Parts: sequence; C-alpha cells; structure tokens
Amino acid sequence: MSDVLTHSIVEAGRWIDSQGWCPATGGNFSARIDASSAWVTASGRHKGELTPYDLLRVDSHGQVINSKLKPSAETLLHTALYALDVNIGAVLHTHSVASTVLSRLEASNTLVLHGYEMQKSLSGNNTHDATVAIHIFNNTQDMQALAQQLKNTWAKSPLQWGFLVRGHGLYAWGKDMVEARRHLEGLEFLFACERDMMLLKR
Ligand SMILES: [Zn+2]
Repeated sequence: MSDVLTHSIVEAGRWIDSQGWCPATGGNFSARIDASSAWVTASGRHKGELTPYDLLRVDSHGQVINSKLKPSAETLLHTALYALDVNIGAVLHTHSVASTVLSRLEASNTLVLHGYEMQKSLSGNNTHDATVAIHIFNNTQDMQALAQQLKNTWAKSPLQWGFLVRGHGLYAWGKDMVEARRHLEGLEFLFACERDMMLLKR
C-alpha cells in the first residue's frame, strides 16, 4: 500500500488541513494510477489525519476495486475529470471559506479574474494582464447530474486548473500532485483576494 501516489495524497491532506481548507472531514482527493483507475480518499475521513489505509482504488466509472472502504460521494467528479483529460494526474477538492463565499457572491456561472500577479501560479499564464475564467456549477447532492454537467460544459470548452461549486468549494487539478497543489494554492489565494475586493466594493 505504501507507494509514491498514496503518500502524495496523505501529504496533501496534512498540508490542506494546515491551511484550513478542508474542515470537519470535508473535501476529497485523488491521484491517477493508470488509464482506468485512481486512488481516492474514503468517505468521512478527516483530511489532516489520513493514512494510506484511508484510500481506495476505483475504476474509471467510480466503482470500487477490491476494497471494503466506501468512496466519497464526489468520486464521480474525480473520475469524470480523469476521463475528460488524459493529462490530469491528481485532483484536490476543498471546502475553503474563500471558495464557499466567493462562489455565492458571484451570481453568474463564470468567475473572471484579472490583474493579479498570482494568476501566474496557473500553468500557461505568464502575466497579470490576462483573464482567467473559472466556471461555477450550482451545488447539488446529485453527483451523477453534476458529473454530466461537467462533461457537457467541457464539451463546449475544456476547463483549466479548476472549477467552483456554488456555496460548496473548489476542485483543482494538475498533471501530477505537485502541479495540483500549486493550482490549488494559487486559486485559493486568488479567491481570497477577489472575495475581499467584492466585499470592499459593496
Ligand atoms: Zn465537497
């Protein structure tokens, strides 16, 4: 069970918990194993206290492979992302205050960021003088429906770096866990800035 991928998820959990982005067992993480399977966090575990035994393997449809653990309900969104883009190697889903509040302040389905130096933390950006668009899906407890909305949106225009779920949190990803962590940290910083800017303008 001890391998680089499972260790990377456990380590990400410690760091994310230290940032306060996954309170009260919220959130879930995953890492791609191969074309048809991934490690995901089991349901209900505190993300700062994960061990490799709190992870299970699922196939590309989110079905459990050889484990008695229960996967998170949101596993379907992780496996949808892996199916949509072969270059995605890790997905981190957080329930931070900034993503929760900002996704409620922004009424449209797209958060537009502009003018921040930290946009350069997102792969492909080399200037503050560009526009970063982050899609916002409305929250639902129907993960099949949300996964389908993600696929429909992606078919029109592939998403980059992450997306928000309104009043709920952020999904961030990268080609590997290192890049997923950088995108998560960059987006969380940008969301905190934008939330403050919106509130100050009110
Ligand atoms: Zn969630």
